Amino acid sequence: MQTQQLGRMTVSKVVEAEDGVPLPMIFPAIAASDLERVKRWCADPDLTTDPETSKITLSMHSFVIRIAGMNVLVDACNGDDKQRCIPSVHLQKSPYLANLAAQGFKPEDIHMVLCTHLHFDHVGWNTRLENGRWVPTFPNARYIFGKRDYDHFASEDAELPHREAYADSVLPVVAAGQAEIVDLEGPTAAVQEIGDGVWLEPAFGHSPGSCLVRAQAGGAQALFWGDTIHHPIQLVRPELTLPFDFDQQRAAKVRQDVLERIADTDTMCFPAHFRGQTAGHVHRDGDAYRYAFVEG
Ligand SMILES: [Zn+2]
Repeated sequence: MQTQQLGRMTVSKVVEAEDGVPLPMIFPAIAASDLERVKRWCADPDLTTDPETSKITLSMHSFVIRIAGMNVLVDACNGDDKQRCIPSVHLQKSPYLANLAAQGFKPEDIHMVLCTHLHFDHVGWNTRLENGRWVPTFPNARYIFGKRDYDHFASEDAELPHREAYADSVLPVVAAGQAEIVDLEGPTAAVQEIGDGVWLEPAFGHSPGSCLVRAQAGGAQALFWGDTIHHPIQLVRPELTLPFDFDQQRAAKVRQDVLERIADTDTMCFPAHFRGQTAGHVHRDGDAYRYAFVEG
């Protein structure tokens, strides 16, 4: 994805990695007709028209919004050197910081980190290992965490990879005095310009405290929907529930509401896991939706 200019702000993508799993593991209800439909507008080579051989490949990336003289990083991927119960990311080494530099940012250039939720694949680069200790990767950043997720992942009841991430990628930021825990019961401004800025908005369901990030600066609005929608196939079957969702019914309702609200508007979407061009617009398509990836 090329850096996108929307009014007075830009949005850049910083890639960590891509990973694919067999489609039936995540979407057992997807039929060949759904795949035929999504392939009309989604060029992902890992999708075939056969549910048995198709793969769901998810990109892990962050976005950096340049707005009002600030650099705001949205979602922080898996991170390096983390002990994880998930083999594909256990003790990972990735080119993430080199990719951040290639987009023109050093860690110290980041003023704010927003996590759409506190799952392990969204908080990892909050910290990095330095002399055997986890320290904030972005030394000059204020990190904003939603209170519901912050409380939930402190609990023994939370799933293991998220608890692992909470310990090495969330708590050290709090200990360093760089975290701000916000109660997201309504729209909450993170950066404010007159009439514009960056806002967090509740979208509870995928995790107890999942949120959307919206940004605008004199042009079209940008929407960072986190894991409200993981993969383009969900635009064809938005009602499907997902095993990753904490509250599956509520997550499906949020997904449908978001799609309904932004379809056929100029809102540019920046999904947390769409690969390739990633950014795009949602359009109605009969009884479902399609996604128009941006060119360039
Ligand atoms: Zn995710």
